[in-house]
Amino acid sequence: MNFTHSEKIHKEALEHIVGGVNSPSRSYKAVGGGSPVTMERAKGAYLYDVDGNQYIDYLAAYGPIITGHAHPHITAAIKKAAETGVLYGTPTPHEVKFAKMIKEAIPSLDKIRFVNSGTEAVMTTIRVARAYTGRNKILKFAGCYHGHSDLVLVAAGSGPSQLGMPDSAGVPESIAKEVITVPYNDIEPFKEAMDKWGNEIAAVLTEPIVGNFGIVEPLSGYLEKVKEITHDKGALLIFDEVITAFRFMYGGAQNLLGVTPDLTALGKIIGGGLPIGAYGGRSEIMEKVAPLGPAYQAGTMAGNPASMLSGIACLEVLQEPGVYERLDKLGAMLETGILEAAKKYNAPITINRLKGALTIYFTKEKVINYEQAEATDGELFATFFKKMLNQGINLAPSKYEAWFITTAHSEEDIVQTIQAVENAFQ
Ligand code: PMP
Repeated sequence: MNFTHSEKIHKEALEHIVGGVNSPSRSYKAVGGGSPVTMERAKGAYLYDVDGNQYIDYLAAYGPIITGHAHPHITAAIKKAAETGVLYGTPTPHEVKFAKMIKEAIPSLDKIRFVNSGTEAVMTTIRVARAYTGRNKILKFAGCYHGHSDLVLVAAGSGPSQLGMPDSAGVPESIAKEVITVPYNDIEPFKEAMDKWGNEIAAVLTEPIVGNFGIVEPLSGYLEKVKEITHDKGALLIFDEVITAFRFMYGGAQNLLGVTPDLTALGKIIGGGLPIGAYGGRSEIMEKVAPLGPAYQAGTMAGNPASMLSGIACLEVLQEPGVYERLDKLGAMLETGILEAAKKYNAPITINRLKGALTIYFTKEKVINYEQAEATDGELFATFFKKMLNQGINLAPSKYEAWFITTAHSEEDIVQTIQAVENAFQ
């Protein structure tokens, strides 16, 4: 494949955009460097780059594009928004309709508020939890990504009962000290940390099903126990469902797991590809938010008509019968095919899959926490990534990300992908 124009544009981008990308995960730093492919257009399951190459896309823009690119129903909604004005700075009927749809799908949300990104959504749930509990600290789990606000860019201390350290330059130590990070899927260190800090903790924040060190499900009974201990200590439970909501079923991972949090952060899929975030939870907690309460949160673009109409259209597509069954079926087909190819060529892989989302880890070991995901072979992944790219398969350039199947993928796409995987393994 020829990437001449991509490379030229990336070179130019480096002169004007920091690192040549508008989000660091788009660079190929984690896969040994090189120019990221510059895409020009997309339709259905396919991306097309500036050199005219076509790709079957499993990046799905890091999750939002669950109905495939430029889905006609969503495109029509965005066109309508463009024609009727994209921003008024006033309430609209669209935001009420959309709030009702989301509440119906995720019953733990008595009240919600729309924002513009997952980062904002999570950041605000933390503020609201602090306002509600009058406490400052939060506890989170190693390897779960929650956006780029100060409080969640904090790495684990040296042990489960140690306070955190800044995970990014520019995050003050004083803020890192408010955050405790423990391993996911292991109740003992969590208990230990809660015994030590529980009475100071405003909220325990987690992805209910992890999407950020690959797809990792909670062990049986784990989240129930986390919730119980959290509430025993008078803290709130926040689920970051930015990746998981509407990913595995029509609703949240919380519906699927039967564990409900006090507050939920949403993003990605609910915007149908346009910028969005949302947060919500029990009424008495959400009533801490301005203008009703003392916790301030606002946004010029929040609830903008374009994102609302696009989000409504996306959920309408996801309401069609059989959508999630189909994603599961294609996911199973892909998983089986990859495992067969791995067997044939003795490729050392493990797959974690839930419905239409999966991760290939280059290891023979099971992966249930970040430490194990970290220990997988990054160099093999990098080689695999480039071999897939060269066969027209677009994956996330990181060993920690998931493959996302969309409603636009066909069985032929899956067959073609499995063949490419087999070639790569060979
Ligand atoms: N939470 C989770 C679980 C995420 O995966 C992400 C983004 N990958 C975020 C929050 C941040 O969302 P955004 O990039 O929209 O700010």
